[in-house]
Amino acid sequence: MDGNYRADRCDLCRSQQADVLAHLATGRSLRSDRQMMAGDLCKLCCQRCGLVREGHSRQSDALIDCYTQDYRVAPDDYTFYTPGGPVARSTLFCNWLTTAFGQDRWRTLGRCLEVGAGAGALLAEFQQRFPDCALEGIELCAASAHQARRRGLRVRQGPLLQTADDRYDAIYSVAVLEHVPSPTRFLQELRRCLRPGGLLFLCQPTQDVPSYDVFFVDHLHHFGTDHLRYYARKCGFRELGFVVGHEWMPNFSLHLWQATEGAADAAWSGSRAETACAQIVSQVTTDMNRLNQTLDRLATAQRRVAVFGLNEVFALARAYSDLGGFPIVCGLDDRPDQPDLAKLGFPVVKPEACAAHGVNDIVLAVNKVYYPQLTSRLRGLGVGVHPVLN
Ligand SMILES: [Zn+2]
Repeated sequence: MDGNYRADRCDLCRSQQADVLAHLATGRSLRSDRQMMAGDLCKLCCQRCGLVREGHSRQSDALIDCYTQDYRVAPDDYTFYTPGGPVARSTLFCNWLTTAFGQDRWRTLGRCLEVGAGAGALLAEFQQRFPDCALEGIELCAASAHQARRRGLRVRQGPLLQTADDRYDAIYSVAVLEHVPSPTRFLQELRRCLRPGGLLFLCQPTQDVPSYDVFFVDHLHHFGTDHLRYYARKCGFRELGFVVGHEWMPNFSLHLWQATEGAADAAWSGSRAETACAQIVSQVTTDMNRLNQTLDRLATAQRRVAVFGLNEVFALARAYSDLGGFPIVCGLDDRPDQPDLAKLGFPVVKPEACAAHGVNDIVLAVNKVYYPQLTSRLRGLGVGVHPVLN
């Protein structure tokens, strides 16, 4: 990942005409690793092609620092709790990448590269399944790359493919494209590293369906399927197939492209591609305004307020509503001993212990599917319950 990020023109169609899609003026914004950053959130929508992008330009060194030093080193792997039992993120992505377009494509690969290999959890999974394939990785974060090498994986640290005269049969990249300053440059570079006819598996958040992705300040671009299809043509690929949504990651899409001879640098044609971004921005802005009114009322009445749900919805509300500066008496969680919860700056206890903290009201910061069950349970504790999402 090299180069500056320029907010003044669209990376895909080069148009300089854009509308402000979101401007949330709380002075805070949220990163995808749930770290809070200083500064308002601003997202733009290209008037010509509809690609949504970050509204503030960034210098290349600031971007690189963000991923090499400052970015929270992702836990080695993440666990999805499915009805069939816990599944590691690496297992899940490996299954998806290898089965979505047929497993035979993978059995015959000689050399394969993972771009953005992190600490190597996914690469290790691939290596185990395809022992005859020469797998390599590249990773910007030195600590993660070091961790991957310690587990015996061939992971190089540095910005993307500086000196690659190597040609790979396949490249895959999961959750990277949305972070790079210029997807065009990034994809052209990947194209150069593939042999003719080589395969690129790309997986990242999709804006075909509503998600909170557009509220992450470190996601510089937000793509719909039509945008990715045009990127393929622009950067020297042929789209072989795509899948929108996985059972456990409904807001991710997976694309299979093949390296072709030469790129068609045709201008964007047709009308702009619509995404779900505007809808989710309008919905969340309404929810945050309503939450502000609720918090204002609770503060005036001098109520003691706790929060149930300390994950994504909470992070969103803390960044983009007055909850960020609100005195929270305690957090409530059924498993209050999780290490992450110790860093929140207020005590975390089981919901049943909220009386001991003198709690009068609970802000419910969870996905709406849990409302019916949780609302009756928490009201049973004799407190007011105020959902964040409507
Ligand atoms: Zn555009």
